[in-house]
Amino acid sequence: MNETSASNFLRENNAKHYWHPMTDPKRSAEDPPLIITKGDGEYIWDIDENKYLDVTGGLWNVNVGHNRTEVKQAIIDQLDKIAYYNTFISSANPPSIELSAKLIEMLQPEGMTKVMFGSGGSDANETALKLARQYWKVMDHPEKTKFISLKNAYHGMQFGALSASGGILWRRAYEPLMPGFFQVDNPDTYRNPWTSDPSELANICVNILDREIQHQGPGTVAAFIAEPVQGAGGMIIPPDNYWPLLREVCDKHDILLIADEVITGFGRTGSMFGTRAWGVKADIMSFAKGINSGYIPLGATAVNKRVAEAWKRDHPLAPIMHGYTYSGHPLACAAANANLEIVERENLPQNAAKVGAYFLEQLKALKEKHTSIGDVRGKGLMLAIEFVKDRKTKEPFAPTDPYPALIAKHCRDHGVMVRNQAHRIILSPALTFNTSEVDEAISALNVSLQAGS
Ligand SMILES: *Cc1c(COP(=O)(O)O)cnc(C)c1O
Repeated sequence: MNETSASNFLRENNAKHYWHPMTDPKRSAEDPPLIITKGDGEYIWDIDENKYLDVTGGLWNVNVGHNRTEVKQAIIDQLDKIAYYNTFISSANPPSIELSAKLIEMLQPEGMTKVMFGSGGSDANETALKLARQYWKVMDHPEKTKFISLKNAYHGMQFGALSASGGILWRRAYEPLMPGFFQVDNPDTYRNPWTSDPSELANICVNILDREIQHQGPGTVAAFIAEPVQGAGGMIIPPDNYWPLLREVCDKHDILLIADEVITGFGRTGSMFGTRAWGVKADIMSFAKGINSGYIPLGATAVNKRVAEAWKRDHPLAPIMHGYTYSGHPLACAAANANLEIVERENLPQNAAKVGAYFLEQLKALKEKHTSIGDVRGKGLMLAIEFVKDRKTKEPFAPTDPYPALIAKHCRDHGVMVRNQAHRIILSPALTFNTSEVDEAISALNVSLQAGS
Protein backbone atom coordinates (compact mmCIF):
# COMPACT_ATOMS: atom_id res chain seq x y z
CA MET A 1 0.00 0.00 0.00
CA ASN A 2 1.28 3.51 -0.74
CA GLU A 3 0.92 6.20 1.91
CA THR A 4 -2.31 7.74 0.64
CA SER A 5 -4.11 4.44 0.34
CA ALA A 6 -2.75 3.39 3.75
CA SER A 7 -4.19 6.49 5.37
CA ASN A 8 -7.47 6.06 3.47
CA PHE A 9 -7.62 2.46 4.70
CA LEU A 10 -7.23 3.67 8.30
CA ARG A 11 -9.82 6.40 7.98
CA GLU A 12 -12.40 4.12 6.38
CA ASN A 13 -11.93 1.26 8.78
CA ASN A 14 -11.98 3.52 11.79
CA ALA A 15 -15.52 4.56 10.89
CA LYS A 16 -16.50 1.04 9.85
CA HIS A 17 -15.39 -1.27 12.66
CA TYR A 18 -14.28 0.70 15.63
CA TRP A 19 -16.24 2.00 18.63
CA HIS A 20 -14.37 4.70 20.53
CA PRO A 21 -14.69 5.32 24.29
CA MET A 22 -16.92 8.21 25.39
CA THR A 23 -18.12 8.74 21.82
CA ASP A 24 -21.46 8.33 20.08
CA PRO A 25 -20.58 5.81 17.33
CA LYS A 26 -22.64 7.83 14.83
CA ARG A 27 -20.25 10.73 15.37
CA SER A 28 -17.15 8.76 14.38
CA ALA A 29 -18.30 8.73 10.79
CA GLU A 30 -19.59 12.32 10.66
CA ASP A 31 -16.69 13.87 12.51
CA PRO A 32 -13.76 11.50 12.18
CA PRO A 33 -11.05 11.64 14.85
CA LEU A 34 -7.53 12.78 14.18
CA ILE A 35 -5.33 9.75 13.68
CA ILE A 36 -2.18 10.45 15.69
CA THR A 37 0.93 8.71 14.43
CA LYS A 38 3.87 10.35 16.16
CA GLY A 39 4.88 12.31 19.24
CA ASP A 40 7.95 14.05 20.57
CA GLY A 41 8.18 16.01 23.81
CA GLU A 42 5.19 18.34 23.91
CA TYR A 43 4.27 17.85 20.25
CA ILE A 44 2.27 15.28 18.26
CA TRP A 45 1.73 14.65 14.56
CA ASP A 46 -1.31 13.31 12.73
CA ILE A 47 -1.49 10.94 9.80
CA ASP A 48 -1.16 13.86 7.35
CA GLU A 49 2.03 15.07 9.06
CA ASN A 50 0.28 18.04 10.67
CA LYS A 51 2.05 19.08 13.87
CA TYR A 52 0.20 20.01 17.07
CA LEU A 53 1.18 21.31 20.46
CA ASP A 54 -0.25 18.66 22.81
CA VAL A 55 -2.02 20.67 25.52
CA THR A 56 -3.99 17.55 26.45
CA GLY A 57 -0.89 15.58 27.49
CA GLY A 58 -2.23 12.38 25.91
CA LEU A 59 -5.13 12.24 28.38
CA TRP A 60 -3.60 14.11 31.33
CA ASN A 61 -1.15 11.28 31.67
CA VAL A 62 1.91 11.80 29.44
CA ASN A 63 3.61 13.81 32.18
CA VAL A 64 7.23 13.44 31.01
CA GLY A 65 6.28 14.14 27.38
CA HIS A 66 6.25 11.89 24.33
CA ASN A 67 9.09 9.77 23.01
CA ARG A 68 11.39 9.95 26.04
CA THR A 69 14.55 7.95 25.39
CA GLU A 70 15.00 6.69 28.97
CA VAL A 71 11.45 5.33 29.21
CA LYS A 72 11.66 3.63 25.82
CA GLN A 73 15.05 2.13 26.67
CA ALA A 74 13.77 0.77 30.00
CA ILE A 75 10.94 -0.99 28.16
CA ILE A 76 13.29 -2.39 25.52
CA ASP A 77 15.81 -3.58 28.14
CA GLN A 78 13.05 -5.44 29.97
CA LEU A 79 11.58 -6.74 26.72
CA ASP A 80 14.98 -8.25 25.89
CA LYS A 81 14.82 -10.20 29.16
CA ILE A 82 11.18 -11.25 29.41
CA ALA A 83 7.98 -9.48 28.35
CA TYR A 84 5.64 -11.06 30.84
CA TYR A 85 5.35 -13.49 33.66
CA ASN A 86 2.63 -13.62 36.31
CA THR A 87 2.90 -12.24 39.83
CA PHE A 88 0.29 -14.55 41.39
CA ILE A 89 1.28 -16.49 44.53
CA SER A 90 4.64 -17.98 43.67
CA SER A 91 6.35 -15.72 41.14
CA ALA A 92 7.50 -12.11 40.93
CA ASN A 93 9.61 -9.92 38.67
CA PRO A 94 12.36 -7.34 39.33
CA PRO A 95 10.75 -4.18 37.82
CA SER A 96 7.56 -4.49 39.91
CA ILE A 97 9.52 -5.15 43.11
CA GLU A 98 11.75 -2.15 42.38
CA LEU A 99 8.69 -0.02 41.69
CA SER A 100 7.01 -1.06 44.95
CA ALA A 101 10.11 0.05 46.88
CA LYS A 102 10.29 3.31 44.94
CA LEU A 103 6.62 4.15 45.51
CA ILE A 104 6.72 3.41 49.23
CA GLU A 105 9.86 5.56 49.51
CA MET A 106 8.15 8.43 47.65
CA LEU A 107 5.05 8.00 49.82
CA GLN A 108 6.88 8.16 53.17
CA PRO A 109 5.27 11.49 54.11
CA GLU A 110 1.84 9.89 53.53
CA GLY A 111 2.81 6.83 55.59
CA MET A 112 2.03 4.28 52.87
CA THR A 113 3.52 0.83 53.48
CA LYS A 114 2.09 -1.62 50.91
CA VAL A 115 1.19 -1.46 47.23
CA MET A 116 -0.81 -3.55 44.73
CA PHE A 117 -0.61 -3.13 40.97
CA GLY A 118 -3.19 -3.16 38.18
CA SER A 119 -3.58 -1.91 34.62
CA GLY A 120 -5.05 1.56 35.06
CA GLY A 121 -7.02 4.01 37.15
CA SER A 122 -10.38 2.24 37.14
CA ASP A 123 -8.92 -0.93 38.53
CA ALA A 124 -6.65 0.96 40.95
CA ASN A 125 -9.87 2.31 42.46
CA GLU A 126 -11.57 -1.07 42.17
CA THR A 127 -8.69 -2.44 44.22
CA ALA A 128 -8.99 0.44 46.73
CA LEU A 129 -12.72 -0.22 47.23
CA LYS A 130 -12.27 -3.97 47.57
CA LEU A 131 -9.38 -3.64 50.02
CA ALA A 132 -11.42 -1.16 52.09
CA ARG A 133 -14.28 -3.66 52.43
CA GLN A 134 -11.88 -6.50 53.12
CA TYR A 135 -10.11 -4.39 55.75
CA TRP A 136 -13.31 -4.04 57.79
CA LYS A 137 -14.17 -7.72 57.41
CA VAL A 138 -10.72 -8.75 58.59
CA MET A 139 -11.09 -6.24 61.46
CA ASP A 140 -14.34 -8.02 62.42
CA HIS A 141 -16.61 -5.15 61.33
CA PRO A 142 -18.23 -6.91 58.36
CA GLU A 143 -21.16 -4.50 58.43
CA LYS A 144 -18.95 -1.59 57.32
CA THR A 145 -19.47 -1.93 53.55
CA LYS A 146 -20.88 1.34 52.17
CA PHE A 147 -18.99 3.94 50.18
CA ILE A 148 -19.58 7.66 50.01
CA SER A 149 -18.16 9.78 47.20
CA LEU A 150 -18.76 13.16 45.57
CA LYS A 151 -21.21 14.30 42.95
CA ASN A 152 -19.33 14.74 39.66
CA ALA A 153 -16.53 12.45 40.84
CA TYR A 154 -14.74 10.37 38.22
CA HIS A 155 -13.20 7.19 39.59
CA GLY A 156 -13.33 4.98 36.51
CA MET A 157 -15.72 2.99 34.43
CA GLN A 158 -15.86 -0.52 35.84
CA PHE A 159 -18.98 -1.24 37.89
CA GLY A 160 -17.40 -0.58 41.30
CA ALA A 161 -15.47 2.54 40.32
CA LEU A 162 -18.43 3.71 38.21
CA SER A 163 -20.78 3.28 41.17
CA ALA A 164 -18.52 5.69 43.10
CA SER A 165 -18.43 8.09 40.15
CA GLY A 166 -20.92 10.90 40.54
CA GLY A 167 -21.62 12.06 36.98
CA ILE A 168 -25.09 11.25 35.67
CA LEU A 169 -23.74 11.35 32.13
CA TRP A 170 -21.58 8.29 32.75
CA ARG A 171 -24.11 6.38 34.84
CA ARG A 172 -27.45 6.55 33.05
CA ALA A 173 -27.00 4.02 30.27
CA TYR A 174 -25.53 1.42 32.61
CA GLU A 175 -27.81 1.63 35.65
CA PRO A 176 -28.61 -0.04 37.95
CA LEU A 177 -25.16 0.29 39.46
CA MET A 178 -23.85 -1.35 42.63
CA PRO A 179 -25.89 -0.95 45.81
CA GLY A 180 -24.25 0.68 48.82
CA PHE A 181 -22.76 3.72 47.06
CA PHE A 182 -23.87 7.26 47.95
CA GLN A 183 -22.86 10.70 46.70
CA VAL A 184 -22.70 14.04 48.49
CA ASP A 185 -22.15 17.59 47.21
CA ASN A 186 -18.72 18.58 45.97
CA PRO A 187 -17.08 21.89 46.92
CA ASP A 188 -17.60 23.77 43.65
CA THR A 189 -16.56 27.36 44.30
CA TYR A 190 -17.90 28.59 40.93
CA ARG A 191 -21.31 26.91 41.06
CA ASN A 192 -22.91 26.29 44.42
CA PRO A 193 -26.16 27.53 45.95
CA TRP A 194 -24.65 28.52 49.30
CA THR A 195 -21.74 30.89 49.42
CA SER A 196 -18.95 32.69 47.59
CA ASP A 197 -16.60 32.21 50.56
CA PRO A 198 -14.42 29.14 49.80
CA SER A 199 -13.62 28.36 53.42
CA GLU A 200 -17.30 28.50 54.37
CA LEU A 201 -18.11 26.29 51.37
CA ALA A 202 -15.65 23.65 52.59
CA ASN A 203 -17.36 23.68 55.99
CA ILE A 204 -20.80 23.32 54.40
CA CYS A 205 -19.78 20.44 52.13
CA VAL A 206 -17.99 18.54 54.88
CA ASN A 207 -21.00 19.11 57.10
CA ILE A 208 -23.21 17.54 54.44
CA LEU A 209 -20.85 14.56 54.35
CA ASP A 210 -20.95 14.34 58.13
CA ARG A 211 -24.76 14.30 58.05
CA GLU A 212 -24.82 11.64 55.32
CA ILE A 213 -22.48 9.41 57.34
CA GLN A 214 -24.74 9.82 60.37
CA HIS A 215 -27.80 9.15 58.24
CA GLN A 216 -26.29 5.94 56.83
CA GLY A 217 -24.93 4.97 60.23
CA PRO A 218 -21.14 5.26 60.68
CA GLY A 219 -21.05 1.57 61.56
CA THR A 220 -22.14 0.72 57.99
CA VAL A 221 -19.71 2.94 56.05
CA ALA A 222 -16.38 1.51 54.86
CA ALA A 223 -14.80 4.53 53.21
CA PHE A 224 -15.10 7.92 51.64
CA ILE A 225 -13.36 8.33 48.27
CA ALA A 226 -12.52 11.54 46.38
CA GLU A 227 -10.08 13.07 43.92
CA PRO A 228 -7.84 15.78 45.44
CA VAL A 229 -8.84 17.92 42.44
CA GLN A 230 -11.88 16.64 40.54
CA GLY A 231 -10.79 16.06 36.96
CA ALA A 232 -13.25 14.76 34.40
CA GLY A 233 -16.19 15.96 36.52
CA GLY A 234 -15.34 19.59 35.84
CA MET A 235 -11.89 20.47 37.14
CA ILE A 236 -13.16 21.37 40.59
CA ILE A 237 -10.40 22.67 42.87
CA PRO A 238 -11.48 22.42 46.51
CA PRO A 239 -10.87 25.20 49.04
CA ASP A 240 -7.61 24.72 51.01
CA ASN A 241 -9.39 23.73 54.22
CA TYR A 242 -11.57 21.07 52.54
CA TRP A 243 -9.27 18.02 52.63
CA PRO A 244 -8.06 18.62 56.22
CA LEU A 245 -11.75 18.77 57.22
CA LEU A 246 -12.47 15.56 55.26
CA ARG A 247 -9.74 13.81 57.22
CA GLU A 248 -11.29 15.00 60.51
CA VAL A 249 -14.77 13.78 59.62
CA CYS A 250 -13.49 10.38 58.47
CA ASP A 251 -11.54 10.03 61.74
CA LYS A 252 -14.52 11.12 63.81
CA HIS A 253 -16.63 8.29 62.34
CA ASP A 254 -13.84 5.74 61.92
CA ILE A 255 -14.13 5.64 58.14
CA LEU A 256 -11.24 5.08 55.72
CA LEU A 257 -10.23 7.99 53.49
CA ILE A 258 -9.35 7.01 49.92
CA ALA A 259 -7.54 9.59 47.75
CA ASP A 260 -7.95 8.94 44.04
CA GLU A 261 -4.63 10.40 42.88
CA VAL A 262 -4.91 8.97 39.37
CA ILE A 263 -4.48 12.42 37.78
CA THR A 264 -2.97 14.36 40.68
CA GLY A 265 -0.28 11.80 41.57
CA PHE A 266 3.33 12.51 40.57
CA GLY A 267 3.27 16.24 40.18
CA ARG A 268 0.39 17.47 38.05
CA THR A 269 -1.04 19.89 40.62
CA GLY A 270 2.37 21.32 41.52
CA SER A 271 3.19 19.05 44.44
CA MET A 272 4.29 15.42 44.17
CA PHE A 273 0.84 14.27 45.30
CA GLY A 274 -2.43 16.19 45.34
CA THR A 275 -3.19 15.56 49.01
CA ARG A 276 0.37 16.53 50.02
CA ALA A 277 -0.38 20.16 49.15
CA TRP A 278 -2.79 20.23 52.12
CA GLY A 279 -0.70 18.01 54.40
CA VAL A 280 -3.43 15.37 54.38
CA LYS A 281 -2.65 11.67 54.74
CA ALA A 282 -5.21 9.35 53.21
CA ASP A 283 -5.49 5.69 54.26
CA ILE A 284 -5.52 4.37 50.70
CA MET A 285 -4.21 6.10 47.55
CA SER A 286 -4.82 5.09 43.94
CA PHE A 287 -2.52 5.93 41.06
CA ALA A 288 -2.31 5.44 37.29
CA LYS A 289 -1.86 7.96 34.46
CA GLY A 290 1.31 9.88 35.51
CA ILE A 291 2.84 6.83 37.20
CA ASN A 292 4.49 5.93 33.89
CA SER A 293 3.17 8.65 31.60
CA GLY A 294 1.04 6.15 29.70
CA TYR A 295 3.92 4.39 27.94
CA ILE A 296 2.29 1.08 28.97
CA PRO A 297 -0.98 0.71 30.95
CA LEU A 298 -0.37 0.62 34.71
CA GLY A 299 -2.18 1.41 37.93
CA ALA A 300 -1.27 1.10 41.62
CA THR A 301 -3.05 1.17 44.95
CA ALA A 302 -1.13 1.97 48.13
CA VAL A 303 -2.32 1.48 51.70
CA ASN A 304 -0.95 2.96 54.92
CA LYS A 305 0.29 1.16 58.00
CA ARG A 306 -3.07 1.28 59.75
CA VAL A 307 -4.75 -0.55 56.87
CA ALA A 308 -1.86 -2.94 56.21
CA GLU A 309 -1.73 -4.00 59.87
CA ALA A 310 -5.13 -5.68 59.53
CA TRP A 311 -3.63 -8.28 57.22
CA LYS A 312 -1.29 -9.38 60.02
CA ARG A 313 -4.36 -10.82 61.74
CA ASP A 314 -5.08 -14.47 61.49
CA HIS A 315 -8.46 -14.27 59.79
CA PRO A 316 -10.13 -16.59 57.25
CA LEU A 317 -10.84 -13.61 54.96
CA ALA A 318 -7.30 -12.20 55.04
CA PRO A 319 -6.00 -13.75 51.77
CA ILE A 320 -6.17 -11.14 49.00
CA MET A 321 -8.38 -12.90 46.45
CA HIS A 322 -8.09 -10.03 44.00
CA GLY A 323 -5.70 -9.16 41.21
CA TYR A 324 -5.29 -9.13 37.47
CA THR A 325 -3.27 -11.07 34.95
CA TYR A 326 -1.39 -7.86 34.29
CA SER A 327 -0.83 -6.89 37.94
CA GLY A 328 2.83 -5.91 38.15
CA HIS A 329 3.42 -6.21 34.39
CA PRO A 330 7.21 -6.04 34.00
CA LEU A 331 7.20 -3.72 30.97
CA ALA A 332 4.76 -1.28 32.57
CA CYS A 333 6.71 -1.26 35.84
CA ALA A 334 10.04 -0.82 34.04
CA ALA A 335 8.51 2.19 32.25
CA ALA A 336 7.31 3.54 35.63
CA ASN A 337 10.76 3.22 37.21
CA ALA A 338 12.31 5.23 34.37
CA ASN A 339 9.41 7.70 34.36
CA LEU A 340 9.61 8.44 38.10
CA GLU A 341 13.36 8.92 37.80
CA ILE A 342 12.68 11.71 35.27
CA VAL A 343 9.88 13.23 37.39
CA GLU A 344 12.29 13.57 40.32
CA ARG A 345 15.43 14.47 38.38
CA GLU A 346 13.71 17.22 36.41
CA ASN A 347 11.67 18.31 39.42
CA LEU A 348 8.50 18.24 37.35
CA PRO A 349 6.12 19.05 40.24
CA GLN A 350 7.93 22.35 40.67
CA ASN A 351 7.81 23.06 36.94
CA ALA A 352 4.09 22.24 36.93
CA ALA A 353 3.55 24.75 39.76
CA LYS A 354 5.57 27.47 38.03
CA VAL A 355 4.34 27.04 34.46
CA GLY A 356 0.81 26.32 35.70
CA ALA A 357 0.72 29.64 37.59
CA TYR A 358 1.82 31.44 34.43
CA PHE A 359 -0.78 29.55 32.37
CA LEU A 360 -3.55 30.57 34.79
CA GLU A 361 -2.47 34.22 34.63
CA GLN A 362 -2.72 34.13 30.83
CA LEU A 363 -6.12 32.43 31.03
CA LYS A 364 -7.35 35.21 33.31
CA ALA A 365 -6.23 37.78 30.73
CA LEU A 366 -8.04 35.74 28.04
CA LYS A 367 -11.20 35.83 30.14
CA GLU A 368 -11.05 39.64 30.17
CA LYS A 369 -11.20 39.62 26.37
CA HIS A 370 -13.90 37.01 25.75
CA THR A 371 -17.36 37.19 27.31
CA SER A 372 -18.13 33.54 26.55
CA ILE A 373 -15.66 32.59 29.29
CA GLY A 374 -17.41 32.35 32.64
CA ASP A 375 -14.54 31.01 34.69
CA VAL A 376 -10.92 29.95 34.37
CA ARG A 377 -9.26 27.87 37.04
CA GLY A 378 -6.28 25.66 37.60
CA LYS A 379 -3.86 24.11 40.02
CA GLY A 380 -0.46 23.35 38.56
CA LEU A 381 -0.86 22.02 35.04
CA MET A 382 -4.46 20.98 35.53
CA LEU A 383 -6.53 23.83 34.14
CA ALA A 384 -9.92 24.56 32.62
CA ILE A 385 -11.91 27.20 30.82
CA GLU A 386 -15.63 27.11 31.54
CA PHE A 387 -17.93 28.69 28.95
CA VAL A 388 -21.24 30.36 29.82
CA LYS A 389 -24.06 31.85 27.76
CA ASP A 390 -24.30 34.68 30.27
CA ARG A 391 -21.59 35.68 32.71
CA LYS A 392 -23.95 37.21 35.27
CA THR A 393 -26.38 34.31 35.54
CA LYS A 394 -23.64 31.72 34.78
CA GLU A 395 -26.14 30.06 32.44
CA PRO A 396 -24.22 27.09 31.02
CA PHE A 397 -24.20 25.98 27.40
CA ALA A 398 -26.60 23.12 26.73
CA PRO A 399 -24.78 19.75 26.59
CA THR A 400 -25.61 19.58 22.87
CA ASP A 401 -24.35 23.10 22.11
CA PRO A 402 -21.54 22.82 19.54
CA TYR A 403 -19.66 25.93 20.78
CA PRO A 404 -16.99 24.30 23.03
CA ALA A 405 -16.26 21.60 20.43
CA LEU A 406 -16.01 24.31 17.79
CA ILE A 407 -13.43 26.22 19.83
CA ALA A 408 -11.40 23.03 20.34
CA LYS A 409 -11.58 22.34 16.60
CA HIS A 410 -10.45 25.89 15.76
CA CYS A 411 -7.48 25.37 18.09
CA ARG A 412 -6.57 22.15 16.29
CA ASP A 413 -6.76 23.99 13.00
CA HIS A 414 -4.20 26.37 14.51
CA GLY A 415 -1.91 23.53 15.54
CA VAL A 416 -2.90 23.28 19.19
CA MET A 417 -4.57 20.17 20.62
CA VAL A 418 -6.98 20.93 23.46
CA ARG A 419 -9.84 18.80 24.75
CA ASN A 420 -13.40 20.01 25.12
CA GLN A 421 -15.52 18.27 27.66
CA ALA A 422 -19.14 19.35 28.04
CA HIS A 423 -19.02 23.18 28.32
CA ARG A 424 -15.36 23.26 29.27
CA ILE A 425 -11.94 23.18 27.65
CA ILE A 426 -9.50 21.08 29.65
CA LEU A 427 -5.80 21.98 29.57
CA SER A 428 -3.45 19.31 30.91
CA PRO A 429 -0.12 19.29 29.06
CA ALA A 430 3.03 17.38 29.91
CA LEU A 431 4.67 18.60 33.12
CA THR A 432 7.70 19.49 31.00
CA PHE A 433 5.69 22.35 29.42
CA ASN A 434 7.38 25.78 29.29
CA THR A 435 6.08 29.33 29.19
CA SER A 436 6.59 29.83 25.46
CA GLU A 437 4.45 26.74 24.85
CA VAL A 438 1.83 28.32 27.11
CA ASP A 439 1.99 31.45 24.93
CA GLU A 440 1.50 29.29 21.84
CA ALA A 441 -1.58 27.67 23.39
CA ILE A 442 -3.03 31.00 24.56
CA SER A 443 -2.54 32.56 21.16
CA ALA A 444 -4.43 29.69 19.45
CA LEU A 445 -7.22 29.92 22.03
CA ASN A 446 -7.43 33.68 21.53
CA VAL A 447 -7.73 33.41 17.75
CA SER A 448 -10.25 30.58 18.06
CA LEU A 449 -12.42 32.48 20.53
CA GLN A 450 -12.40 35.51 18.20
CA ALA A 451 -13.42 33.32 15.27
CA GLY A 452 -16.01 31.47 17.34
CA SER A 453 -17.90 34.51 18.61
C1 LIG B 1 -8.73 8.56 34.39
C2 LIG B 1 -9.19 8.43 35.79
C3 LIG B 1 -9.59 7.20 36.31
C4 LIG B 1 -9.72 5.97 35.46
O1 LIG B 1 -8.51 5.55 34.95
P1 LIG B 1 -8.46 4.55 33.69
O2 LIG B 1 -7.00 4.32 33.50
O3 LIG B 1 -9.12 5.26 32.56
O4 LIG B 1 -9.18 3.32 34.07
C5 LIG B 1 -9.88 7.13 37.66
N1 LIG B 1 -9.81 8.22 38.44
C6 LIG B 1 -9.47 9.43 37.97
C7 LIG B 1 -9.40 10.60 38.88
C8 LIG B 1 -9.16 9.57 36.62
O5 LIG B 1 -8.85 10.77 36.11
